[in-house]
Amino acid sequence: MYKILKQEGAAKRAEFQTVHGTVQTPVFMNVGTIAAIKGAVGTEDLEQIGTQIQLSNTYHLHVRPGDEIVHKLGGLHKFMVWDKPILTDSGGFQVFSLAGLRKIKEEGVYFHSHIDGRKIFMGPEESMQIQSNLASTIAMAFDECAPSKADRSYVQNSVDRTARWLARCKAEMQRLNQLDRTINKNQLLFGINQGAVYEDIRIDHAKRIAEMDLDGYAIGGLAVGETHEEMYHIIEETVPYLPKDKPTYLMGVGTPANILEGVERGIDFFDCVYPSRNGRHGHLYTKFGKINLFNAKYELDERPIEEGCQCPACRRYSRAYIRHLLKAKEMLGMRLCVLHNLYFYNHLMEEIRNALDEGRFAAYKKEMLESMAAGEQQ
Ligand SMILES: [Zn+2]
Repeated sequence: MYKILKQEGAAKRAEFQTVHGTVQTPVFMNVGTIAAIKGAVGTEDLEQIGTQIQLSNTYHLHVRPGDEIVHKLGGLHKFMVWDKPILTDSGGFQVFSLAGLRKIKEEGVYFHSHIDGRKIFMGPEESMQIQSNLASTIAMAFDECAPSKADRSYVQNSVDRTARWLARCKAEMQRLNQLDRTINKNQLLFGINQGAVYEDIRIDHAKRIAEMDLDGYAIGGLAVGETHEEMYHIIEETVPYLPKDKPTYLMGVGTPANILEGVERGIDFFDCVYPSRNGRHGHLYTKFGKINLFNAKYELDERPIEEGCQCPACRRYSRAYIRHLLKAKEMLGMRLCVLHNLYFYNHLMEEIRNALDEGRFAAYKKEMLESMAAGEQQ
């Protein structure tokens, strides 16, 4: 159940109750693509850095180790030894972006695995069956994420098909949730709004999916090549047509600034690979801007990555030491950087929630954006 606790303009401070516990929003979902955060980060670490919810990837887990294997092992929660909420994406995004040689039909998509080239078919029913086997808390509807440069008629056709697929996802999820073999019989389903940068298609699609009484609503197909201004505009135009009494999720977005802008426009859930991916390359987020630890000026720098940060890296180690580990390709260097960046994102969300609780989000957002932009040369 979703409950709004506080509002400031379009920004919402809410909580979302699930069978795996309550999520306080706005929230950042830590991305564990193949049932692990890339960068040697385990469940103990995630507990330490304030992670509320993880995201795992349906397509990747279907290809390896196989969702039937995860089902036999008791589902993702047991497999990963993580008892808090998990959201699984539908596999749609990877089918359309990773897999080779695909063919889109009304029934679903035929494609080749990016691991071993074998032929796979995935449609709405298959995506729901895989996610049911994984037994995540929240399943995402199977959709097509149309290329951002696709023309209007392509996008309209694609969105129409995605709407028909959503009805099939809902029916299949209801069927699966009643089966004896199903591990999580309370699995939730979020629908996904598409329409590239065509705001009328977005709005029309939002109205159609809003009528379907789903557990939550995502905005997909953004941050795929359009400008930030186009993205903010689409969010602003679309969110008002999604149900007010359900959580909203902006998929795959983004930078700390993108998140602050998303919260301001009414988004509850975010996910992004930036903190772990950038961390693995020594690019670190701080409230004074981003730093690149490979830069020579940190060679003798005994300060932590960010002064005052309570993450496991900053509580103990210096920039100079972590820089040395990264340069020597020692795995610990990468791990410490990923931990810092994930902590930064989770902590940012905590500060956002506190600011909303106290009715000072607008001031907090302004202060953070200025501080992050001003400090690049630290
Ligand atoms: Zn830190």
